[in-house]
Amino acid sequence: MKKWMIVAGMSGLLVSTGCANNGNEESGADEAEEASSDASGKNNGEGQEETEGDTEENAEEAENDGRSEAGEDPPETEENGDLENPSAIDALINREYHLPSDYEPENLVIPDVAFPFEGEPQKKYMREKAADQLENMFAEAQEEDIELSAVSGYRSYDRQESIFAANAEEDGEEEANKYSARAGESEHQSGLAMDVSAASVGYSLTTDLGETEEGEWLEENAHEYGFVVRYPEDKTDITGYQYEPWHLRYVGKDLAGTLHENDWVMEEYYGEELEEESSNGEEDK
Ligand SMILES: [Zn+2]
Repeated sequence: MKKWMIVAGMSGLLVSTGCANNGNEESGADEAEEASSDASGKNNGEGQEETEGDTEENAEEAENDGRSEAGEDPPETEENGDLENPSAIDALINREYHLPSDYEPENLVIPDVAFPFEGEPQKKYMREKAADQLENMFAEAQEEDIELSAVSGYRSYDRQESIFAANAEEDGEEEANKYSARAGESEHQSGLAMDVSAASVGYSLTTDLGETEEGEWLEENAHEYGFVVRYPEDKTDITGYQYEPWHLRYVGKDLAGTLHENDWVMEEYYGEELEEESSNGEEDK
């Protein structure tokens, strides 16, 4: 059975790091381990063999002239970039489209899947709809002898804020911005994201996951359950984030199918490719 979450008062709980969306905060053995895996993002250049997109697609891009690949309008926002409908399953959340500081998702539950740690910390939670599909996905993977493990899900605005502040103090704000999301800019606040790993990579959040059978299974099958690998290796200049084979975002089966079929990330779907944020650090490091 899933456990329901009481959001109030949860912000003090530990939340994992390691994902580029939170960065390498220190504190806690659990967190230190995950944070160390974050450094593996430097390996991005190795083994890159992603398709470059065939000429047909390139021709289409030229015709679209910067407009949305799918012809979809980007989400409505307030002047400050806050989403008007932050609870939308297909919400675009990045450095330009933010979740409001007071947004807390409803129906947060702990999915009944494997975690590499005990207890009921905030990071085990997801929105119920996403949790249900995560359970289905993990169960189907297990049928195929693919053992997945959930590592880090929901993260409150306050939690993200303190993580970014810690990173900025450590590395400076500009540097921290390359690997860590500011509060309101992390998909983890939506309750629709889960970082997923496997025993084969020590449950760490590492780009090595993409080379494992578990990582490959996720890339090929996650859309069947409404999830997408949100930050693919060949889209870093569009998403503004380094390759994160572990970061799964629930968007619903329809949109996940569309994105998978067309090899789009959400920014392409909405025609909102980030221009100034293309420096995600991987080329500098
Ligand atoms: Zn993540």
